[in-house]
Amino acid sequence: MSDNDIDPTTPRKNPKPEVKTIGGRELKPATLMMGHGYDPVLSEGSLKPPIFLTSTFVFPSAADGKRHFEGITGKRPGGADGLVYSRFNAPNQEILEDRLAVWDGAEDALSFSSGMTAICVLMMAYADQGDVIVHSGPLYAASEGFVAKVLSRWGINYFDFPAGATREQIDAVLEKAKAKASETGGKVCMIYLESPGNPTNALVDIEAVKDARDAAGLGGSTEKGCPIAIDNTFLGPLWQRPLDHGADIVCYSLTKYVGGHSDLVAGSIAGAKKWMDPVRSLRNTMGGICDPNTAWMLLRSLETVELRMQRAGENAEKVCGFLAKHPKVEGLGYLGMIKDARQQDIYDRHCLGAGSTFSLLLKGGEAECFRFLDALKIAKLAVSLGGTETLASHPASMTHLSVAEGRRAELGISDNLVRISIGIEDADDLIADFEQALETV
Ligand SMILES: *Cc1c(COP(=O)(O)O)cnc(C)c1O
Repeated sequence: MSDNDIDPTTPRKNPKPEVKTIGGRELKPATLMMGHGYDPVLSEGSLKPPIFLTSTFVFPSAADGKRHFEGITGKRPGGADGLVYSRFNAPNQEILEDRLAVWDGAEDALSFSSGMTAICVLMMAYADQGDVIVHSGPLYAASEGFVAKVLSRWGINYFDFPAGATREQIDAVLEKAKAKASETGGKVCMIYLESPGNPTNALVDIEAVKDARDAAGLGGSTEKGCPIAIDNTFLGPLWQRPLDHGADIVCYSLTKYVGGHSDLVAGSIAGAKKWMDPVRSLRNTMGGICDPNTAWMLLRSLETVELRMQRAGENAEKVCGFLAKHPKVEGLGYLGMIKDARQQDIYDRHCLGAGSTFSLLLKGGEAECFRFLDALKIAKLAVSLGGTETLASHPASMTHLSVAEGRRAELGISDNLVRISIGIEDADDLIADFEQALETV
């Protein structure tokens, strides 16, 4: 455009500003994903946000620059109220963060270059020397490794409880953690959960954890309280909303269902601003924010996340209906077919859908699993999950190979366990594929 097209003294205004309610009706996330947080008028009317490939942003005035840095450096809480430098934030990432927050009903969200960056920066922001982290088990192997092998080097201790733990078991672990913290001159700085656990799909009772945390006087509602964070990668954002059940911070590997096409790596956390601020501040220092191209791809993914997850969930239900009856199948770790009354009770209170990632227990061991995996024709043999395509893997010899054998057995990761992530292909085609592969077992 030429300079005389616009009068620089009158800022352009959007004739149709964003609406979030119509006639008192709050618009649903699926609707908001098409435009929330983006004003086309600020980008030449472009319907879709451009990708902002820039390292830095021009300040309107020196006073504005000062004000923005007050936000960045934490002199004022809540971050900068304008764009400063792309390690701190940038337009694509801000739109992404606004839209991610919508799904979990969170006040604020932060994007990262991977799920593990999100989780590591989150833990580092909360843990001081002498502190104790309490976590559920099993965790994603890299998360468990970060707590046990990295944070421990800086004098941060940890205790864990099994995913299905009862209130009494959680109470007992929190007591041990408090005793340890007073001995080491620190505090219980975070309760970190993962539900369902990978690859067994064991669910954590978030409400019981919150009640236990509050009863232990670890006061999450106060400024210095101990937040409950939860990795919601397996069921979020559609099938579980942990902030509604007492969690304070929700974490994602966006690489999985949210990205959904197995073509990017990214992560995020979401929650109240007061919980996000320390993490934002450390991210400002360390970097690790999602890049603009990946953020843009995630905006595209978020437009279809509900459609994709619904279809994958329906497919998984059909496939599991077939597998459950097959004579070569010993069992299924599928949330739509829970056998345990306590797990079913947690599911009924916390989950809105059974997901599309589950474990399949074959009759036999590693050899039978390998024959099955090698015979699959549609399902691809790869780790990861939540993509449009169906994937299958063998956790004991792949994702959980580094876990000690005793601990593997404790966690239920047996040699006859295959993990499957169902995609959005035709369900009957998938069933035909599993049927022919099972014949080779
Ligand atoms: C994949 C995954 C992660 C790690 O995410 P990356 O994006 O690979 O860093 C963390 N937690 C769970 C449950 C995962 O499945």
